[in-house]
Amino acid sequence: MSKIKVTIWNENVHELEQNALGDYIRQSYPNGIHQCLKENLTADDLEIRTATLDMPEQGLPDALLNDTDVLVWWGHCAHARVEDELVEKIRTRVTCGMGLLVLHSGHYSKIFKRLMGTSCGLRWREIGEKERLWVVDASHPIAKGVPETFTLPHTEMYGEPFDIPDDGKVIFMSWYEGGNVFRSGVAFQRDAGKVFYFSPGHETYPIYKDENVIKVIGNAIRWANPQQPILKDRLATNQAVPLEKVTTENPMEKIDTSALHEKQ
Ligand code: ZN
Repeated sequence: MSKIKVTIWNENVHELEQNALGDYIRQSYPNGIHQCLKENLTADDLEIRTATLDMPEQGLPDALLNDTDVLVWWGHCAHARVEDELVEKIRTRVTCGMGLLVLHSGHYSKIFKRLMGTSCGLRWREIGEKERLWVVDASHPIAKGVPETFTLPHTEMYGEPFDIPDDGKVIFMSWYEGGNVFRSGVAFQRDAGKVFYFSPGHETYPIYKDENVIKVIGNAIRWANPQQPILKDRLATNQAVPLEKVTTENPMEKIDTSALHEKQ
């Protein structure tokens, strides 16, 4: 069985800050969130690569993106620095079948907002409160082996209303000590690709060392792995050739309609 090619992309900005906040974050993630995820997700069926914003071509040259089955995305303060051209390449590859996992503050990333088509806004609060997650759909592959409920001792609160489209399948719900609730794990289909948003993962707490959180992310990678070969060129397939002989006379046959189709 061939391995799932996973690329973990992290903006890796907070982890490098030379101040008290950076020092605190490095206690949890001395080598960055991406390295922590890679170490904890390592398994025989996964080939995991990491990429960061400061690398050439923002960490995702065509050769790597086009060799990725599932892309994992963590971003927060540098969403605006991700080039629109790269976002469009990622969006196209998702629609062609690549899986995408968007973590925590990635809810405001360009790629997630582009794929959702909504503001993706939410309520938030950062006072280190407890979060309790509940499995909403125990039959879903992303919930396999995950306890019905588990807690994270310290999290950033992400609360409803969460402006995402309602075609998402809610897999996890969260309750926070301060009283808020949130759809913390939601699965989407975008054309041929699967997308999963999972909210735990604030950078100042060691959330990506929690075994249940890692279990969810690992499950989500395997769920999002395309079951069919990723399409090479989705746009080239848009003009459909008739499968049966069409006998209806085309009233426009003698008129050049190419100008109508130029923008398709
Ligand atoms: Zn956060």
